[in-house]
Amino acid sequence: MNPVLIVGGGVAGISLAHACAEKGVDYRIMDDGKNVCSSIAAGIVNPFSFRRTLLTWMAHPFYQEALSFYQNNEKRMRTQHCFPIDIRRIFSSEEEKTTWERRFNDPDFEPFMIPFDRDDEKRPPFGSGRIKGFWIDAKTFIEENLRFFEKEGTLLKESFSNEAFSVGDLTYKGKGFSNVVFALGYKNKALPWFQDLPVHSTQGEVLTVSWNNSDMSSSLHRKVYVLPIRPGYFKIGATYMWHTESLEPTEAARKELLEKFHLISKDEVQVVKHEVGIRPTSPDRRPLIGEHQTYKGIFVFNGLGTKGYLTAPPLAQRWVQQLISGNEMDASTLPYRFKPS
Ligand SMILES: Cc1cc2nc3c(=O)[nH]c(=O)nc-3n(C[C@H](O)[C@H](O)[C@H](O)COP(=O)(O)OP(=O)(O)OC[C@H]3O[C@@H](n4cnc5c(N)ncnc54)[C@H](O)[C@@H]3O)c2cc1C
Repeated sequence: MNPVLIVGGGVAGISLAHACAEKGVDYRIMDDGKNVCSSIAAGIVNPFSFRRTLLTWMAHPFYQEALSFYQNNEKRMRTQHCFPIDIRRIFSSEEEKTTWERRFNDPDFEPFMIPFDRDDEKRPPFGSGRIKGFWIDAKTFIEENLRFFEKEGTLLKESFSNEAFSVGDLTYKGKGFSNVVFALGYKNKALPWFQDLPVHSTQGEVLTVSWNNSDMSSSLHRKVYVLPIRPGYFKIGATYMWHTESLEPTEAARKELLEKFHLISKDEVQVVKHEVGIRPTSPDRRPLIGEHQTYKGIFVFNGLGTKGYLTAPPLAQRWVQQLISGNEMDASTLPYRFKPS
């Protein structure tokens, strides 16, 4: 059987490659080395949506599946890139606190909840609460995995050339593939196959700061996140901009992030890095995964939005499973679910 060709080496493509390998499906993974999303991400895996104190889409079972994937991946890559963290939500109202307290008695939420501690009381005016989470050192994860594929001889370091691709027999530069899956992130529109799908670009900026704070055990969340990445250094993120694909850091975003940080702490911090990335987002915030409506064997795997580190590994496993079994993916992620605008 010919291998599967995975185009795109972000967290989506990497997850697909490992899911193929796990099921004994031969694959090649192609990447052009221009990643500006998966490698920029803070990599926080947060099972909650804080705005309404609800679980995020598919938190059960995705959280556990993603955690197992990264822990196994660390062993295979022989690196450390997956770190447990208590995610501390600083409440914005008394009502939010009451809702949070109710969640302790809900069996769906209970596995993630951490009992209140002294620090929770010290966060005026409404206090805070913690849940269990983890974060991925995104740069290390991406670099080590691509290096691994290179050593395995499965990485094609190039930009996909449409001229070299024959859609009729799924050959690329004369080599046959059983299926081709495009996991291009926000570059989805650069190739013709899935241009009509609503994968929108949501640009985001993130700061790395040095801060004289020794708490490495919890990230802080209130309008921004403040994630401890190594002693004395934290990531503050992120902004959301919908009408630009600019990769230039802006003064406005830096100001916005620092102002929001100062709602959490009055301490001064030194900015040591300022990065920009672009998320691939869909209108209903669900991924877009499935086969082309005309061309058989061509798939899209995109639209991971703000949660790619949670959703990519479990969705990749389901995609490979459906490839083997011939069943369809979950209807909520089918790519043509939106009416043409
Ligand atoms: C500032 C910021 C913070 C974030 N924080 C978090 C977070 O804390 N937690 C979380 O879960 N998610 C976070 N995200 C979102 C997360 O990064 C995305 O959901 C995820 O990275 C999307 O992965 P992807 O593989 O689909 O896309 P990408 O990472 O964009 O990967 C696509 C790959 O395809 C390659 N490519 C494109 N075109 C071609 C071509 N023609 N030929 C070959 N290769 C090509 C690109 O170079 C790239 O490597 C954040 C995003 C941003 C921008």
